[in-house]
Amino acid sequence: MDNPPNVSVLLVEDDRPLGEATQMILKQYGYKILWVTDGAMALDAIADKKFDVIILDLGLPRVSGLDVLTTLRSNNMDVPVILLTALGTLQDRIRGLDAGADDYLIKPFDVDELIARIRALLRRTSEREKKTISYKGIVIDLDRHSVTINGEDVAFSRREFALLEKLLTNQGRVLSRDQMSQSLYGWDDDIDSNALEVHVHNIRKKVSGDIIRTIRGVGYMIEKAKPD
Ligand code: CA
Repeated sequence: MDNPPNVSVLLVEDDRPLGEATQMILKQYGYKILWVTDGAMALDAIADKKFDVIILDLGLPRVSGLDVLTTLRSNNMDVPVILLTALGTLQDRIRGLDAGADDYLIKPFDVDELIARIRALLRRTSEREKKTISYKGIVIDLDRHSVTINGEDVAFSRREFALLEKLLTNQGRVLSRDQMSQSLYGWDDDIDSNALEVHVHNIRKKVSGDIIRTIRGVGYMIEKAKPD
């Protein structure tokens, strides 16, 4: 995927050579970038403008990266944040992830890696914003956890919903029984070996036509929908 135009990145880094190099490369990749060199400037920038991604050094003058992150999250700002951390500060990284960072890179990092992480985060964000999945008359609403089939509401249990969602978000891919069972994990403490079959059987009864294929010895799949 090419970089979408108008992706704005806030880079917070007090190391000038590193900041300059990162800024230059992100610009070459077509990102709009604002580079600031301390935590207080970062908070000002965030208050002023919406960013698509924030690249945040942890060790910063005035206000630490961790405090910037904590402030962001306590204000319900869910902008994706990639932390930059020094090698060997595992505690910092853990604290950063606990404070709501989406990802981190250890310095010195490879620029291609940074670009890849940014792309992955943006992809995840846009998936999250997609609140419904439609497939051959079936519409599942990821917020409301509801399913309509040809316009009619159909009741799905949480587990059935999770499995259908998993299949629909992986159209064209065979999902192993293990991958499918992972969707059930956390709701069923003792998933017995037949639980998956039972749920798939129930889903099949509810959806029209047999859209779920059994791949013998492997798992299940839903064929990719043909584009309209
Ligand atoms: Ca620093």
